[in-house]
Amino acid sequence: MAELKLRFQSHHLPLAQTFTIAYSSRTHTPISFVQLQWGNHVGYGEAAMPPYLGESAQTAESFYSSLDFSWVTDPSDLEKVLGYVQSHRLGNPSAKAAIDIALHDLHAKRLGIPVHQLFGLNPANAPQTSYTIGIQPLEEVHTLLPNTDPFGLIKVKLGGGHDRQMIDLIRSYTDKPISVDVNQGWTEKEKALEEIYWLKERGIVYVEQPMSKESTMDMEWLSQHSPLPTIADESVQRLTDLFELKNYFHGVNIKLMKCTGIREGYLMAKIAKSLGLKVMIGCMTESSCGIAAATQLAPLADWVDLDGHFLLANDPFEGLSFYEGVVQLSQLNGLGVFPKHLIWDDQ
Ligand code: MG
Repeated sequence: MAELKLRFQSHHLPLAQTFTIAYSSRTHTPISFVQLQWGNHVGYGEAAMPPYLGESAQTAESFYSSLDFSWVTDPSDLEKVLGYVQSHRLGNPSAKAAIDIALHDLHAKRLGIPVHQLFGLNPANAPQTSYTIGIQPLEEVHTLLPNTDPFGLIKVKLGGGHDRQMIDLIRSYTDKPISVDVNQGWTEKEKALEEIYWLKERGIVYVEQPMSKESTMDMEWLSQHSPLPTIADESVQRLTDLFELKNYFHGVNIKLMKCTGIREGYLMAKIAKSLGLKVMIGCMTESSCGIAAATQLAPLADWVDLDGHFLLANDPFEGLSFYEGVVQLSQLNGLGVFPKHLIWDDQ
């Protein structure tokens, strides 16, 4: 009788360069990888844990260690297995996402199909991904601009005190569409609206999380007056957040690491659409394992921001391809990605 075996390992992955947003700056990112094995089939998953969200390698390992899959007789019963994982402990969204991703990879491999086929999604409908430029000195941004050449959309982090100069510099290089992410960095709604009008004139397509997640009244006012779509990121984590959020924003940035994985991410995208919200699929700085998982849902998105693996110095996974600005959905079984050098304890 086969059993569902879980293995995991943690890494502190170096970034290609220091990444700065409105409230944090870092050179490494903590990540844990999990492997779920059933017979000859193996599924892979990943938890990316940026420090400001409260999870760490320690909390993830504690969560994995406390799981008991000895009762599982059929890993294709995703409802039952993931129901157990969800209710096992509160919180731990990215550790839960790692299990969810590995189980989807395993399940699809056993069926002999790519994960996106489980959801009936067409790879041809996946939008181009944006490439993110963090907050940094203008001289450094200048040297980074050629990195944006293969991408059809550029995402710029604002809230660093030289927002307009950042946009002017990028506009002097390219007329490609730009999106901006303020990461809660603006504090006055009237000033925020003035900035959004200025940005609209320069071909910006949407504004992500302009104000604090606490400022719901200001955010409601801003979204009512904004000539550009406003997208919630820090203001939303789980599916149930959507029902209130629709009053304050025009769209939602769905990240698997916040919403516990592919299963809830899919439901969030479907329900967001039914509520009239725009859908963006985003990521943390994560390897192409996590990015491949989020990419499975890309055909449901209006905008895709899945560039986290490009920001790593060394991506521990391979198999994900990038073509004509789109992170491509693989036709291989499962997620279509494989570890390069990971060594699991008992192999
Ligand atoms: Mg964001």
